[in-house]
Amino acid sequence: MFFIVWGWRGRQKAIANGQFFCPDCGDHREYKLIAVNRWFTLYWIPLFKGKELGQFVECQSCKSTFNARVLEFDPKAERETFEAEFSIAAKRVMFKMALADGEIDESEITQITQAFSNIAKREIEAADIAAELEAARDDTRSVKDFVSDISGTLNDVGKETVLRAAISVVKADGQVDQEEVVQLHELARALDFPRAYANGIFAEERIPVLA
Ligand SMILES: [Zn+2]
Repeated sequence: MFFIVWGWRGRQKAIANGQFFCPDCGDHREYKLIAVNRWFTLYWIPLFKGKELGQFVECQSCKSTFNARVLEFDPKAERETFEAEFSIAAKRVMFKMALADGEIDESEITQITQAFSNIAKREIEAADIAAELEAARDDTRSVKDFVSDISGTLNDVGKETVLRAAISVVKADGQVDQEEVVQLHELARALDFPRAYANGIFAEERIPVLA
């Protein structure tokens, strides 16, 4: 009996290399971008190339492999974007809360300026304050609605930052009344905070926990 043995197998070929941020190594490393092609074989010998089956990236240090999209991953840039997002959110929440009881006063401005520099790790300028106050006034959403809209873009650290920023504004006048406590709890709910996590923050900030 005589067979002609046809088959195919995937063959890997490095098509590019360079430096990337390896999520497993947690640092910049050499990578190879590897294409996998189907090769048709005759008696197990590759004879001609078929279609490309896919590509992956291989870290040359730890040998972990990743989807090729890993090459677009830049943790530094992403951290900056994230920081910008929660800073913007915290700032808007603080101004909206300060505006909620009518006009914004000097002590609230001082408090917000202080809280914002702590969050953003930079000074907030007078022009920024004026612009943000204007934007917070024009944004007709309630604090709760605003926060519901942005909560999906924040992780737990970002949510905590926003909640603590709101608490700092409430505390600015030296007393926290029942209405403000209710408002903070509504805010925590709108942020879609895990309840135990939010209550931990409230306890730490000496804000009464609601039943
Ligand atoms: Zn690696």
